[in-house]
Amino acid sequence: MKPEDDASASRRQFVGGMTAGLATAFVSPAFGQQGQQGSLQGLSQSRKQDPTTQYPAPPFPQQKQEPPGLASKMVPRPDHGETSYKGSGRLVGRKALVTGGDSGIGRAAVIAFAREGADVAINYLPVEEPDAREVVELIRAEGRKAVAIPGDIRNEDFCSRLVADAVRELGGLDILVNNAAMAAGQLSIVDLTTEQFDSVFKCNVYAPFWITRAAMPHLKPGATIINTSSVEAYTPSEGFLDYAQTKACNIAFTKSLARQVARQGIRVNAVAPGPFWTPLQTTGWPDLSRFGRDMPLGRPGQPAELGPLYVFLASQESSYVTGQVYGASGGEGHP
Ligand code: NAD
Ligand code: MG
Repeated sequence: MKPEDDASASRRQFVGGMTAGLATAFVSPAFGQQGQQGSLQGLSQSRKQDPTTQYPAPPFPQQKQEPPGLASKMVPRPDHGETSYKGSGRLVGRKALVTGGDSGIGRAAVIAFAREGADVAINYLPVEEPDAREVVELIRAEGRKAVAIPGDIRNEDFCSRLVADAVRELGGLDILVNNAAMAAGQLSIVDLTTEQFDSVFKCNVYAPFWITRAAMPHLKPGATIINTSSVEAYTPSEGFLDYAQTKACNIAFTKSLARQVARQGIRVNAVAPGPFWTPLQTTGWPDLSRFGRDMPLGRPGQPAELGPLYVFLASQESSYVTGQVYGASGGEGHP
């Protein structure tokens, strides 16, 4: 059985209690429902407003996708900053590689980077081509170079090729974002197969190591590495025994590597998000209808709310920040 088949089977078990289909009574707070749920368009990031109503809050329509899932199939569609992020030249001329750049948090970082003047290469799985096409168009709309490199990062050789292709196509590398991840989930350790455990670790732990190791010879002083961890590293859920461990690994990797490469003028930081409205959650979270409800802000985050954080960590503005972990989890959890 291929790792992805196995992970799908496990996930089906984990989400077995979910109500299938969309709740018929639900009225989607999709794009542009202004006033009640807040607009997902336009000024949402620059205008002062109440963060509890800025973006959609539960209840959400029940929905489930096979991994890795597509942002374009989510209801409501996530906001990655497509219409709201405004650049101000903070990354002009930089060259960035973002894994999982097709959707979710990675896409928000990519849009923000391109609007700040960076050329961007994205990696994603081949089945995510529809989401990736949208991102490529968004980068090109900014007059920046977009490089699409699909492939499975659980393969070491592919990780080497990914970096080599990105460096060749972009003409160098200044920003590396290790953001791709799988989150299969399994309610009992007894049912957690070695194949699933191995697959999740390959994607979430080995791949950032392989990709970063391959990237190091190309990174010059001023370069930055950003790893996407999770609040799961600090307050692990019982159903994400494997995933939570990988996210804790991302933190140790960040802090150790930051010390190792500091004198080379390379900074390494991590972002540890809480619940964000992304395809990852449609493939593993047991009950999406209430997603984010119990957070102090009463809703999940939208990827657009993280774009500025990735820009800060990638830019020279964070020049004294290295080995740090930034949280964004709606008022709960650590860091
Ligand atoms: P997402 O589904 O949009 O992004 C995850 C991406 O990982 C996918 O788009 C896919 O391209 C990539 N990916 C998965 N398996 C892969 C493989 N084998 N090879 C290559 N690429 C692969 O979801 P997201 O929530 O934006 O996830 C991005 C990061 O955010 C992940 O590291 C995740 O752990 C982290 N995170 C998410 C949340 C959340 O609530 N959404 C919370 C904390 C941390
Ligand atoms: Mg995706």
